[in-house]
Amino acid sequence: MKTLKIAIQKSGRLNEKSVEILKNCGLSFENYKSSLISTVTNFPLEILFLRDDDIPEYVQDGIADLGIVGENVIVETKAEVDFLQKLGFGKCTLKIAVQATSNIQNLEELNGKAIATSYPVILEKFLQEKGIQSDIRTISGSVEIGPGLGLSDAIFDIVSTGGTLKSNGLKPFADVMQSEAVLIGNKSIADNPEVAELLQRIRSVLSAKS
Ligand code: ATP
Ligand code: ZN
Repeated sequence: MKTLKIAIQKSGRLNEKSVEILKNCGLSFENYKSSLISTVTNFPLEILFLRDDDIPEYVQDGIADLGIVGENVIVETKAEVDFLQKLGFGKCTLKIAVQATSNIQNLEELNGKAIATSYPVILEKFLQEKGIQSDIRTISGSVEIGPGLGLSDAIFDIVSTGGTLKSNGLKPFADVMQSEAVLIGNKSIADNPEVAELLQRIRSVLSAKS
């Protein structure tokens, strides 16, 4: 019997709930401390603790068989993986925001404007669908400071409460994508009986909750 590998976030917003759902499936393992791999003692499974951005490609390439990651990261990395199950946590919305004082009223007015983001793929797809051409400026973090510094006219980022937008003089302008954590699988593991068993356990944990 092959030992499966599942990749989850090492630390961050998805870590705790990812560990919790696996524990609720009856799996016994030690949580991440310094070792990046943890062996489940009562199921043929190893847990890899990774940065969330790396998870879709690891699953696509078969380094991990399964993964738990936000839909936003899957779309952004363009990884080819199977979506097995939405997990009901890590929910967030990716939005375009503009300066609170901006008089931009409709999407067409974003034509020719600079938009700062860490999610250029998702943004590009959205703008293309709407027939809008903006200047997408990819930066790796703190995109909210862009407009205030004159780096960009708008931003595209994950927004949860809107507090960060407000404190940077921004206001939400358009919702682009809803995201939550999902279980993904490598394309070649669909018929694996251990995967089926694990998926069934995850589904019963989820339905017991709702
Ligand atoms: P890593 O160190 O693993 O790269 P990170 O800093 O990129 O972590 P987190 O901030 O932990 O990532 O967010 C992980 C995921 O949690 C996001 O990709 C998104 O799917 C989800 N998420 C839910 N709510 C939020 C939020 N308010 N802000 C950011 N991400 C959120
Ligand atoms: Zn990340």
